[in-house]
Amino acid sequence: MHIKEEVLAKGCFIIKDGTNTRFWDDTWVGDKPLKHRYPSLYNIARDRHVAVSKVMSSRPLNISFKRSLVDNNLMEWLNLVAQVSNVVLLDGKDYFKWLLTKSGLFSVQSMYLDAIDTNPPFQHRRIWKWKIPLKIKIFLWFLQRGVILTKDNLARKNWKGSEKCLCCNMNETIQHLFFDCPFAKMIWRIIFYATNLNQPRSIDHMFGTWLNNQHKKIKPLIWVGLAALCWAIWRCRNDIIFKRMKSNSIMQVIFRGAYWLRFWAQLQRDEQAKDTLVVMSKKLEMIALEITNRGWKHFLRLL
Ligand SMILES: [Zn+2]
Repeated sequence: MHIKEEVLAKGCFIIKDGTNTRFWDDTWVGDKPLKHRYPSLYNIARDRHVAVSKVMSSRPLNISFKRSLVDNNLMEWLNLVAQVSNVVLLDGKDYFKWLLTKSGLFSVQSMYLDAIDTNPPFQHRRIWKWKIPLKIKIFLWFLQRGVILTKDNLARKNWKGSEKCLCCNMNETIQHLFFDCPFAKMIWRIIFYATNLNQPRSIDHMFGTWLNNQHKKIKPLIWVGLAALCWAIWRCRNDIIFKRMKSNSIMQVIFRGAYWLRFWAQLQRDEQAKDTLVVMSKKLEMIALEITNRGWKHFLRLL
C-alpha cells in the first residue's frame, strides 16, 4: 500500500461541501471506502475518482455506470443510495479526521505506533519510550523494518551503483553493515571490552532475545547505547559515501557513538543512568584512543 493510502485508511473525512472528498476512494460514510463496500459497482463506475459534491449535487445521485444496473448490482446500488441518503452537504471545507489520536489530528508517532502494532515482528512499541531524539527513534524503527537505504535496498529501487561494502568486498546489506563486516565486528569488539556485552547476531536478535536477556535495570541504558552505536555506524557510512571521507572510521564510529551517548545521557530522568552513560562513553573513548595510539596488538596484550 502506498503511504498516502496507508494514511487515509487510518482516518475518515468529515463532509461539509463534499468537494475535497472522493466518493469511492475515501472513507466518509461507514468505516471503509465505498469502493471496498461495493466493489462490483465501483468496477462499472464511469468516473471512479469523482468528488462527493458532484455525486450528491442532484437526486437521484449524479453518477453513471458503464452498464445498466441489474440483479446484484441493482441491490447494491439501492443499498448504497440508502447509505448516503442521510448525508447533507453544508458550507465549509471537508476535513480529514485522524482516528489514531484523541485530538483527531495527524501525528507521525501515532502512525508509526499503529504500523508497529499491525506488523507483528516489530512489536517494539517501547522504542518510542526511549529517551532519545525522535529522529533517532525513526531511524531505529526503519532499521528494524529493514528499510534503511543500504545498497541492497537501493538496488531494489533500481539504483545502478556498486553494491559493495565500503570496507570489504562483500555486498552491503543491513546484516553486513551492522554485524558481519570485519569493520562492524571490530566495533563490537571494542564495545565488548568496554561493557562486556557480546555481539548480537542480527537486528532481530539485537532488538529481541539479546536485549530481553539483559538485566532489567540496565536495559534502558543499553537501549540508548544501541541507538548511539547504530546511528554512529550509519552516519559514518554516509559520510564516507556522500562526503568522501576516508574510511579509517572505526574510531570515528566509537568517538561519535560516545559523543551521542554523553549527549543523550542528559535526556535521561534518572541521575544514576545519566552518570553511567557518561562513564560508559568515556570508557569507550579511552579504549578507542588506546587502540589508535598503540595498535590492536598492544591493546589485546593488556587484556
Ligand atoms: Zn564490509
